[in-house]
Amino acid sequence: MTQNSARQAQLIELGHRSYSPNYNPRDVVFARGSGSLLWDVAGKQYLDFGSGIGVNCLGHRNEQLLEALRSQTNRLWHTSNVYFSEPPVLLAAQLVEKTFAERVFFSNSGAEANEAAIKVARKYASANFTDAKHTIVTFQGSFHGRTIATVTATAQPKYHQGFAPLPQGFKYSEFDDIDALRELMNNSVCAVLLEPIQGEGGVRPFSIDFLQQVRKLCDQHDALLIFDEVQCGTGRSGKLFAYQWAEDVVPDIVTIAKAFGGGLPIGATLLGEKVADTLNLGSHGSTFGGNPICCEVARVVFDKVTNDRFLAQITAKGQLLRNCLREIQSEYGIFEDIRGKGLMIGAQITADHGEIAGEILRASMQKGLLVLQSGNSVIRLLPPYTVSQEEIKQAKEILADVASAYR
Ligand code: PLP
Repeated sequence: MTQNSARQAQLIELGHRSYSPNYNPRDVVFARGSGSLLWDVAGKQYLDFGSGIGVNCLGHRNEQLLEALRSQTNRLWHTSNVYFSEPPVLLAAQLVEKTFAERVFFSNSGAEANEAAIKVARKYASANFTDAKHTIVTFQGSFHGRTIATVTATAQPKYHQGFAPLPQGFKYSEFDDIDALRELMNNSVCAVLLEPIQGEGGVRPFSIDFLQQVRKLCDQHDALLIFDEVQCGTGRSGKLFAYQWAEDVVPDIVTIAKAFGGGLPIGATLLGEKVADTLNLGSHGSTFGGNPICCEVARVVFDKVTNDRFLAQITAKGQLLRNCLREIQSEYGIFEDIRGKGLMIGAQITADHGEIAGEILRASMQKGLLVLQSGNSVIRLLPPYTVSQEEIKQAKEILADVASAYR
């Protein structure tokens, strides 16, 4: 064992012993990254097609992000929201100019962005209708975060276990089934919350028709429409927001995080006209929300993902990657469906092969490719938007090699 491998083994042992056991990280310690590549402490190279769960959207050590980080780090780190500072003011103005939003609330994560959205929905209904209008409808397979409210919004019982009593006022509807949703809609519903493309739930896009119908249903029942774009937004689908694939649908609230910070922790709750002023003075807050360093970096990301040429490249690369997966599918028969949009891609493993996503993930990693899983039968790919065609082909070679063992 080399000195570096011994060091890696030592760190892994120390990590497993010292971390709360809720994660069970894989046995690797990453030391540095560049573009789509990562290197572990022992010096082994990996192609990163997970991007830290959809976060490092411009790759590792992106020059423009580094420049923004360096210059802001040299100027100002933190002020709190008792004062203004330049980066969050400019970022909020950019968001208001380029999206449906009229105002923005900054936080530090996806869960917090959703938590704020839930509070806005309840407060808006309480101020304009009655306190009894407080139900939030979400969908089977969803994932909205781990705080006590967002985990309750997450319609997957495995995430609820042991945390009772859960907050009241959440109902769950069937994925992409407008009739099931219609049944649940009544005067007590203040909002419908959904991910236009479910991420943790298996990279499942809602149909365009469903997104259009849900807007109408919300209008009929004076309910707000909230899109959780924490994973599928910020360019990931080939549009700034995934909901924009459904023409003419305008949400009331959109939440973003993950890719928005390019690798730094930031979340945002984008507020449309109806709810722009709902969070009145003192009603909500976050000490770190709108941190100047995170916002200066997010400004660079946002410039990129509002550029049509850049978005078109995401779509083209996604097409190439999906084609590669289809070739693997037809050669080895391991997948039964390749889905997703842009660079948010899911490969559904056939029922015959069973729940082997974890196995495939481990085998790929051993061969130098990092991928993610959504549940036990979907391989999820979220490469950086800056990934090259060459790297996509390399990833295909590795995945084909892994799949060949299951022929
Ligand atoms: N919403 C969606 C759609 C997500 O995929 C996630 C995280 O995976 C979250 C919310 C929670 O985000 P965070 O882990 O930053 O709190």
